[in-house]
Amino acid sequence: MKTSREISLERAKVLKTRIDDYLEAKKSIPKGWEQSEVIQKRKQNILTILDATEENWNDWHWQLKHRIRDVDTLLKFIRLSDAEIEEIKAVSKVYRWAISPYYLSLINVKDKMDPIRLLAIPSALELRDHTHGLDPMGEEFTNPAGTITRRYPDRLIINVTNECAMYCRHCQRRRNIGTKDRAVNKTELKKSIDYIRENEEIRDVLITGGDPFTLANQVLEWLLKELKAIPHVEYVRIGTRTPVTMPQRITDKLCTMLKKYHPIYINTHFNHPMEVTYESKMACEKLANAGIPLGNQAVLLNGINNDKFVMQCLNQELLKIRVKPYYIFHAKKVRGTMHFNTSIDDGLEIMEHLRGYTSGMAIPTYIVNAPLGKGKTPMLPQYLLSRGKDHILFRTWEGEMIHYENHPTIDLATQMKELENKS
Ligand code: SF4
Repeated sequence: MKTSREISLERAKVLKTRIDDYLEAKKSIPKGWEQSEVIQKRKQNILTILDATEENWNDWHWQLKHRIRDVDTLLKFIRLSDAEIEEIKAVSKVYRWAISPYYLSLINVKDKMDPIRLLAIPSALELRDHTHGLDPMGEEFTNPAGTITRRYPDRLIINVTNECAMYCRHCQRRRNIGTKDRAVNKTELKKSIDYIRENEEIRDVLITGGDPFTLANQVLEWLLKELKAIPHVEYVRIGTRTPVTMPQRITDKLCTMLKKYHPIYINTHFNHPMEVTYESKMACEKLANAGIPLGNQAVLLNGINNDKFVMQCLNQELLKIRVKPYYIFHAKKVRGTMHFNTSIDDGLEIMEHLRGYTSGMAIPTYIVNAPLGKGKTPMLPQYLLSRGKDHILFRTWEGEMIHYENHPTIDLATQMKELENKS
């Protein structure tokens, strides 16, 4: 008869084989953290070309002002064919684009399929789709006041600006981006705040845009102060991609200000392990040290992260920088971004792979946004196979079938009473 140690060792041997393929695949996934030296070299090159200093680089105002937004400037950094130049010019006429110098330093310019390049540089594929609209969520029909979007009973969104540190090629809100940076004026913001004040069931407010962290600290602080003064607002969430695209924005001053308005939660938007760099780690650590829980909302994107090993790696890298993977959004059907769209099967395959193969902390919820703002709907592989009155049949992450007894929940109060009567 085998000892318990022998049985444990045999099981450990099997478990070890379950991770071999990931460990092999992981070696060839580019990770920002591992490529610090290369990124540093690219950064020096960008600084030289822009005739700028380290101090400039670390100043988010400089990053914002020096976003690359025309082909002539881009050509100083990346070699492009004549056809590519024409493509970018054609896309520019329809959709806005801009890349922060920081995000540019993450691009492998020699690889046309580099995920960072695909996320940053316009492609003629954006112009191919004529069938989809720009507002599949019907946001214009969920705007009861000011710049609010309300889709749920107890929470809502305030859109505060259309400006972002970069204009991502997969952006699901490109309809809002427009052609010019435009922070929402105080009159509109006040209308949104008044609406929240008048509707007592609103306990959770999400500040988003664009990117709210392109606003000055004073404006953000004014808004947070107003919301904090509404008794039924229990906490505020902020959606920002700046830790990914312009981590210089996360300054000590910003964190000191945010700390005054707890509870605050921040959700950011990393899509690929290459985005998890030394500088983004510093930014996330500052926010976490200010007591702000951080979550990540990735978008499932063709050619970027629709691969089970890339997504596993991304989620593990995020936990290392204190960001909890929160959602994987299935990409909405937005005009100009359909080449990034994947099948639902890609998402389910990823979810199937994550469960068991990595810790639950590294497993976000995979969400399809129902069209016309009908709500976030989780997509799960099938674990529960049948459900009887007294038992259920389910399968484990390794595919083993388990019959499991399903007792009815006991009536605790009655049983306590019985105990009391006995004593
Ligand atoms: S930062 Fe967000 S809102 Fe702005 S362009 Fe990128 S995906 Fe869109």
